Amino acid sequence: MHRRKFVAATALAAAAGQAADTPVRSTPLKAGYWGTQYYDETEKAELLDVLEARSPFRWYGPQPPKKVLQFEKEFATRMASKYALGVTSGTAALQCAMAAFEIGPGDEVILPAWTWHSCFNAVILAGALPVCAEIDETFNIDPDAVERLITPQTKLIMVVHLQGNPCHLDRILAIAKQHNLRVLEDCAQSVGASYKGRPLGSFGDIGIYSLQMNKSITAGEGGALVTNDPILFERAARFQDLGGFRAPHAEAVGGAHLGWTFGANYRMSEFTGGVLLAQLRKLDRICNAVRHNAKQVYAGIRDLPGIKFRDLPDPAGELGSGVFLDLQTKARADKFLAAMKAENVLASKPGGSVILPTLPHIMEKKSLHPNWPSFQSPRGKAIRYAPDTCPRTIDILQRYAGVLMDPKFTAADTADIVKAIRKVYPTI
Ligand SMILES: *Cc1c(COP(=O)(O)O)cnc(C)c1O
Repeated sequence: MHRRKFVAATALAAAAGQAADTPVRSTPLKAGYWGTQYYDETEKAELLDVLEARSPFRWYGPQPPKKVLQFEKEFATRMASKYALGVTSGTAALQCAMAAFEIGPGDEVILPAWTWHSCFNAVILAGALPVCAEIDETFNIDPDAVERLITPQTKLIMVVHLQGNPCHLDRILAIAKQHNLRVLEDCAQSVGASYKGRPLGSFGDIGIYSLQMNKSITAGEGGALVTNDPILFERAARFQDLGGFRAPHAEAVGGAHLGWTFGANYRMSEFTGGVLLAQLRKLDRICNAVRHNAKQVYAGIRDLPGIKFRDLPDPAGELGSGVFLDLQTKARADKFLAAMKAENVLASKPGGSVILPTLPHIMEKKSLHPNWPSFQSPRGKAIRYAPDTCPRTIDILQRYAGVLMDPKFTAADTADIVKAIRKVYPTI
């Protein structure tokens, strides 16, 4: 009896002693690619349908094709928008949006200093001038910064809802209305997220989405655009199909309003359409799972003294792609990353984007031809891209760190994340 008690007591003491040096997990925990983890018989069946019909082209073939059209129909419904267009990538969708808005030489587009290359590139490819605005603690474009950058040449505000989190949309929409500007929502990193109960992408004049592997749902590559405006839809559709407008799309807008124009070929294939149709039907399941997991982590650490999360304009609508903490200094954020790594729970700085004004080719104002129009206007000649144009953006991104979420994390996984943060936080 005595001995048994003693053994139990020493085992407890050993376990307690161990806890200080043993990592929370024995194997690393790291978020994966969301959509691909949900691939099953449904994606397989969609692909087989296309293969067996021998109809991989969206507009005609030996059998009437229907995958991309069906995807567009269901995507428009899910995004609470009248029209949806499937294209080959999010970058292609951005270019279609530029064409739809008739952005060109002499025009200025305000976009966040922290975003993906595609946003800047789409403005350059349109021959217009990208004007970078600072971000706020949502990690998205700061409405005050936007207001300060508006000139008579400004035509469009490009907001980007990064890492699952909506920007301060109400303020952006009010500013756009006041200055009679168009709004483009880049929802590439927030497919399935919402703001005040409505899907992201349905607030601006156009919303674009990426369906590349790092995003919520995927066919490896893919993109989509939504709008409620038949003319914007027609211009976008024409741009992705050499300038023409096919009958099913024309019927959707009650007949073509415009004539032939110029465009690229960004048409989605039926294979992509089929996989995306299967994935789209799982989107809410994926988003709910990620949100649920993020909620467990928020709830488990909310009481830590002095804790401050990323600014969430709509906590119920964000995806919960990552739980980010303001660690006040770069040194503390770096210490947090190292300490979490030692616990085998991987943490990271805000990611998936670049600080545009710090990239060498942007600082040098490179373009595609010596006479490229982007930097030929007086404003284009005068504009500077450099780290000192976005100090706040750099500061925010240096002092935040967090844990990326995965829809397939188990209750044990999220408990480990909470345990690791609670263990590490007092030491940094
Ligand atoms: C991924 C991404 C894009 C581009 O999408 P692709 O499908 O990779 O071309 C555009 N904007 C943002 C914010 C992105 O993260």
